[in-house]
Amino acid sequence: MREAELINLYQSQKNYFKTNQNPDSKSIISQLKCLKAEIKANEQLIIEAIHADFKKPEFEVLTTELFVVYKELNLFIKNINSWRKPKRISSDWLNFPSTDKVYHVPWGNCLIIAPWNYPFQLAITPLIGAIACGNTVILKPSEYAPNTARVLETIISNVFDTKQAAVVQGAVETAQNLLNLKWDYVFFTGSVPVGKIVSQAIAKHMTPHTLELGGKNPCIITKHANLSIATKRIIWGKFINAGQTCIAPDYILIDQTLKTEFIKEFKKQIEAFYGENIQKSTDYSRIISDKHFDRLKNFIDTEQVIYGGQNNRSHRFIAPSLIEAPKLDSDIMQEEIFGPLLPIFTFQDLNEVETIIYKIDKPLALYAFTTNKAEQNYLIKNFDFGGGVINDCIVHFVNDKLPFGGVGASGLGNYHGKHSFKTFTRQKSIVHRKNYIDIPIKYPPYNKTKLFKKFLSWFR
Ligand code: NAD
Repeated sequence: MREAELINLYQSQKNYFKTNQNPDSKSIISQLKCLKAEIKANEQLIIEAIHADFKKPEFEVLTTELFVVYKELNLFIKNINSWRKPKRISSDWLNFPSTDKVYHVPWGNCLIIAPWNYPFQLAITPLIGAIACGNTVILKPSEYAPNTARVLETIISNVFDTKQAAVVQGAVETAQNLLNLKWDYVFFTGSVPVGKIVSQAIAKHMTPHTLELGGKNPCIITKHANLSIATKRIIWGKFINAGQTCIAPDYILIDQTLKTEFIKEFKKQIEAFYGENIQKSTDYSRIISDKHFDRLKNFIDTEQVIYGGQNNRSHRFIAPSLIEAPKLDSDIMQEEIFGPLLPIFTFQDLNEVETIIYKIDKPLALYAFTTNKAEQNYLIKNFDFGGGVINDCIVHFVNDKLPFGGVGASGLGNYHGKHSFKTFTRQKSIVHRKNYIDIPIKYPPYNKTKLFKKFLSWFR
């Protein structure tokens, strides 16, 4: 979209919000129902588009894109009316007589910038929250999933007037043009380096924002793990979406006595999941672009592959691979891997994991495979990360009652379910004073200092 058109669209949303600051819940719910119906009507198109973008299996689209979105929509349809109601707060006796309330008000004009890796779900889920709270939205999907981006545009334009919600297609330049405008809220999902650029761009307007970023998520397996279940769950969590998941395990830290058994189990389970020739499997995604393929291929070429490593550039295929403990200053340990490569480190004593985890920025997720309570507590309490799971991975994303987000370099803020409501509204505090009595203590002349000192002494 040309810059002038973009500014017109932005201006129309600004004007719309000015006259629609407080839409009634009935009309919001009816729009959410329309959005749900439109998604349902376009399910097949969504499945085909995501498959065209990176051969994501239909089952994974149903579970990780559509199911998540329907769940969020149903939750908002059911609860938005009660969530939006002003909440009565007990008054402070200093303000006697008064009635105090908190109003949950929309921010206004929101910009949502989405990534390509869950190209439908990560664009629509924040949009549901933003619209349900009464905001307007301009949504910029990723240029790397163009088929899904087109379906998103069709769905949004069929449900909403562009004054309220619109999709803007484009790459970096479009995103930067959008970021030059003054927003009331920016919700960004993407990489840490781009998150920093977004953060700087919006700082000039001091725009409130959420950053849903990535990171290197450690996956720890102690000798108290159920190795067979752990291996299955790690393979599922790592290779769903071909490892292109922000909360996928990035590297393994395993008790050294378990390493040989883990690799044996790993091979067995990979074959059980995807068959002997994974490239033929329709249950395994491809890498999103040649550029992303080349970055991962470079890791394969420079590191010691102990399992997997097969790849095919013309199909952008990379097999699930285990990498022998890389150097901590190597590229593969400096960058978020974001692909089907899994470095494996060993430790003798669990405390040794600190030497690796502390060297890397705070991750989005941490996974601990252990049935030992002391080990679980040690890992939860000693490391800072967005969220995590004991004895599985990724599944904390599923519970919409849990806030989902990072910390430090892995993000700022959170969302999902009621937490999305909190993200896309602001709390406006109102004290409603009554007139039937007006206690004069606060007014001049201040001939009551002595009295007030006595009163103050109760607080000292
Ligand atoms: P990305 O940062 O490259 O791109 C994300 C979005 O930002 C895209 O829409 C892109 O067009 C835009 N963009 C790119 N360069 C820009 C610039 N210079 N200025 C402004 N906007 C720009 O991320 P990606 O490759 O699409 O997605 C993968 C990353 O996203 C990974 O790091 C992953 O961990 C992270 N991610 C995080 C979450 C989460 O919920 N925390 C979810 C999915 C992905």
